[in-house]
Amino acid sequence: MHSISYDRARDVAHAIELARQPGAKFIGGGTNLLDLYKSGVERPVRLVDVSRLPLAGIMELPDGGLRIGATASNTATANHPLVRQRYRLLSDALLNGASSQLRNMATVGGNLLQRTRCYYFTDPTLGPCNKRTPGAGCAARDGYNRIHAILGASEQCIATNPSDMSVALCALDAVVRLHGPNGERAIPLADFHRLPEDRPQDDTVIAAGELITAVDLPPPRFTAHHYLKVRDRASYEFALVAVAAALEFDGASVRDARVVLGGVAHKPWRAQAAEDALRGEPLSNETLRSAAEAAVQGARPLEHNAFKIELARRAVERALRIAGGMA
Ligand code: SF4
Repeated sequence: MHSISYDRARDVAHAIELARQPGAKFIGGGTNLLDLYKSGVERPVRLVDVSRLPLAGIMELPDGGLRIGATASNTATANHPLVRQRYRLLSDALLNGASSQLRNMATVGGNLLQRTRCYYFTDPTLGPCNKRTPGAGCAARDGYNRIHAILGASEQCIATNPSDMSVALCALDAVVRLHGPNGERAIPLADFHRLPEDRPQDDTVIAAGELITAVDLPPPRFTAHHYLKVRDRASYEFALVAVAAALEFDGASVRDARVVLGGVAHKPWRAQAAEDALRGEPLSNETLRSAAEAAVQGARPLEHNAFKIELARRAVERALRIAGGMA
């Protein structure tokens, strides 16, 4: 019998104090943590409930940006008027994720921390997993790896990050705000998730006991954008490939661009070579093809997922085509 203690945090400082106990976990909506607890993947000894902290607000920042509190639900965030008007890419990505019931419960902070859906990670009966048990081995490498990474994988882990929201936040140059035992810090979303390398157990750079308190968005910069998600079924499914494409024009030429892929790596994959291929160029068929080709530079297929490379190429081209009004 596994026993857990439960504490409801009064404020951020209290939450951080409660989380000092080894094996403690913060819980917000619980949509991922409780699933993993039931399957035996997560074994917290203490749950620190942060769902009642006053961190659900969404407010304008003095510089024209937006602060989204960590316990804002995915539904509230996606439907907030300022998000819909100024950061439609984020709203679209959120509404492409999960089901409406899950979006009502899931929080922004929890979404950033959701763990991979690699079958061998979520079901301990299927085989060893370095992310679950460091050094145990990776059953996916020689197993069924259709949904796994084509970019940035390591010998130890080939898992992908499942979050749609994080892909859009990366394209919007979001910053994650953290409070922890050593004070506050802010980390660009692009640096928040990490590649597996030889520490696949660490999905992010968050330190022990740190609590996500908010996500800040800079003032909107990209006038044209599109979020494209390709999945095995039309709803309630994780991405095989997703693309957040954002464009800013100077006349007919692209002044700046963001191309971020989801479902292909252990973190939202910012395709900077694709962005470079777009900057300063008019959006022509040739430019789109160059950007799409650049987006999959360095991709390496596994036994069952070579199709993802062509899928990613086509998804990037299509997302940019729609964003740029060419479709
Ligand atoms: Fe575990 Fe990563 Fe291998 Fe999946 S790919 S079994 S998460 S080590």
